[in-house]
Amino acid sequence: MTITELKTKWKQVLDACPTDKINAVKLDQWYRPLTPVSIDEENAVIAFAATETNPMQKNMINTNYHIIEQAIVQIFGKPYTIRLVEEQDIGEVPDFTYTHYTFDSFVSGPNNRLALAASLAIAEQFTPEYNPLFIYGGSGLGKTHLLTAIAHYVKEKNPEKKVLYITTEAFTNELIKAIKGQSTEEFHEKYRKVDILLLDDIQFLAGKEQTVEEVFNTFNALYSANKQIVLSSDKPPKDLKDLPDRLITRFSQGMIADIQAPDYETRVAILQQKIEEKGLSIDQNLAEVLDLIAQNVTDNIRELEGALTRVLGMAGLSGEKITKDYAKSILKDVFIIKEREVTPENIKKAVAEFYGIKISDLESSKRSRVFVGPRQVAMFLIRTHTSLSLPQIGQEFGGRDHTTVLYSCEKIEEEIQNNKEFADKLKIIEAQFGKNN
Ligand code: ADP
Ligand code: MG
Repeated sequence: MTITELKTKWKQVLDACPTDKINAVKLDQWYRPLTPVSIDEENAVIAFAATETNPMQKNMINTNYHIIEQAIVQIFGKPYTIRLVEEQDIGEVPDFTYTHYTFDSFVSGPNNRLALAASLAIAEQFTPEYNPLFIYGGSGLGKTHLLTAIAHYVKEKNPEKKVLYITTEAFTNELIKAIKGQSTEEFHEKYRKVDILLLDDIQFLAGKEQTVEEVFNTFNALYSANKQIVLSSDKPPKDLKDLPDRLITRFSQGMIADIQAPDYETRVAILQQKIEEKGLSIDQNLAEVLDLIAQNVTDNIRELEGALTRVLGMAGLSGEKITKDYAKSILKDVFIIKEREVTPENIKKAVAEFYGIKISDLESSKRSRVFVGPRQVAMFLIRTHTSLSLPQIGQEFGGRDHTTVLYSCEKIEEEIQNNKEFADKLKIIEAQFGKNN
């Protein structure tokens, strides 16, 4: 897409915004002054020149963002994130700001706990043991979000600090420009006077000799001056095979933290966070949609969010009610929707996993409390979610009598009525075997 095409489309986006949701004055005031400068298909980001934006404008952009987001889906056919590209006045150091990538909006999970803890630690204060902080993980798992969150945090807390976030690609381009313009001295200067350097996606250094050299020298200068360095990559240092050993050694000498794909609960929590950011509340229908998306998009948070944005965007435009069936109709073009089957086996498996016991224990005649409770839960869930009769359910549990099954079901029902915490636990188990499908 050329810049002219991009500008035309952006104008269409603004024209497509429903004026009952965002008034024309606001559009003119906050959005029309933004000029799109580039579109990054891989990361689904549209960048805007933000030289003249002020904090107030940034806030307005954040507040109304979901309306714009819907219009983007309509015009571009898929969701994009808006990024403001600023040339800030910390020296002449260029700085990139993602409007809403902060620690507050970063959901912590077992998959990212270490990376998040290390990021918070260095954002709080310079930490020599964590220098450099090297964060690695697959695409769309939150590396850029974390790096940007650090940058925001440090700047907010210590406005005098020189914070520089830059992608390896932008760094390379700038170096090339400096070489062409014979201004490499200034380039060196610029990068060596920062207090914290955040260099994103350093896997792209591979094969770029001069940039590698430049990064090496910058690293050494900053490191020996006790300045914090943060690096991100899609693989750990030792797997960056195309980079010289001296660089890999340096990258490995501080803290290495990985980000893994999020588990089901973290995926749902992230989706809930995005809903909150949009100022929406979660009803039963929306909860089912989140479950559907979380079950189907498992290893890329960008795509997870993209699926949600697409459903919300389409529903917003068509005025349709957001239900699970509606979401399925929208998402069937994006991915093959996996339908989970509700079988006694799946239910037993989910219950056993939840309580950390074996399926054979559920089916056994063991009378320990550790097994009796979960066994009753499994019986109840099979009774509720399958068409098995009481005697058939008894068969599923080592040939128990149907009265035992009935008693178990009644017991659990009573517990659900009286104990909210218990009822919530059952919901988690139900989500695992997919009662919503
Ligand atoms: P990466 O740089 O690793 O490719 P990004 O940082 O661009 O990934 O993340 C992709 C999208 O997923 C972003 O919109 C980001 O806000 C979101 N995201 C990733 N991890 C989290 C998280 N833990 N909590 C909330 N949002 C997240
Ligand atoms: Mg990134």
